[in-house]
Amino acid sequence: MTRSILIIYTGGTIGMINDPETGALCPFDFEQIMNAVPEIKEFGFKIDSYTLPKLIDSSDVKPQLWKELCDIILENYEKYSGFVILHGTDTMAYSASALSFMLNNLTKPVVFTGSQLPIGKIRTDGRENLIAALEIAAAEIEGKAVVPEVCILFGAKLFRGNRTTKINAESFDAFQSFNYPPLAEIGIHIHYNYGAIDYAPRIGEVSAYTDMDTHIAILKIFPGIRPEFIDAVIEMPGLKGLILETYGSGNAPTDEVFLSKVRKACEKGILIYNVTQCQGGTVEMGRYETSRELLRSGVTSGYDITTEAAVCKMMHLLAREKDANEIKKSLNSALKGEITVNHIGF
Ligand code: ASP
Repeated sequence: MTRSILIIYTGGTIGMINDPETGALCPFDFEQIMNAVPEIKEFGFKIDSYTLPKLIDSSDVKPQLWKELCDIILENYEKYSGFVILHGTDTMAYSASALSFMLNNLTKPVVFTGSQLPIGKIRTDGRENLIAALEIAAAEIEGKAVVPEVCILFGAKLFRGNRTTKINAESFDAFQSFNYPPLAEIGIHIHYNYGAIDYAPRIGEVSAYTDMDTHIAILKIFPGIRPEFIDAVIEMPGLKGLILETYGSGNAPTDEVFLSKVRKACEKGILIYNVTQCQGGTVEMGRYETSRELLRSGVTSGYDITTEAAVCKMMHLLAREKDANEIKKSLNSALKGEITVNHIGF
């Protein structure tokens, strides 16, 4: 098959221009993106594009967009060798995480990219990002995709999507993957990190499960957190899953006021996922006294998951599974390479 790539344009800074009235950046049409990088016509493969009916700043992303993206990918799956999704940087890590959980048996690359400066600006980072994303999306060895994963290309690095976090609102190196090595580094050559790419055999045809249950919350603990604030979160009507952002290796206060609330939430059937506030490293429940009680109460370890991936994984599992034990089992294991499971300390 002749190689061909579908670019799906959702909005984001890469295609923005200054609004003539307010001066604020807002998404603009796809043509000007293509006009800014005429050299991509020199790639030896076909490039088509699909522009979403309503272009958005990615701060407006909702789970409905993730479903639309999966639908577009599946409808066009046979026609293209890979997909590049142009997306704002603000929620790119959420969208890439969500698609990684929604899509199953993916054998082709889905590469998210965008930029910090619009592609129409002289110093834009959008050109390099787009060109590298296209090259990676089209890369094949013996007819098979080099990176059959949902990933993010940004600032000369390719990351696994569900391992990535936006770390800088200014630098061209806007993303980082603290707990998993880059899948590729882009210099004069593109160096693929073959050992880090997911080549596990795909069992079955590509498919998507796109429902998301948004009855979740994030509770970031801090010294001085008020009990009534915790109550307000765990008493949210319909709450099913809670991402508990803890200190260090998964530690939380040991006072009875806090712990009794955690216990009460678990008894009510709320699934609590322990995610560290640290960018690097992992939750090790039971390593300190301050996390043993969480473990005893029924809190599940998020290991080294990012908050972005934890949010999407929780929404996905709550929609997909009915049995709480099955959900816990899945939370505790790597579905799409999003966590490194360790059993240190317990
Ligand atoms: N606010 C923009 C967005 O996420 C930022 C960007 O694209 O870099 O759509």
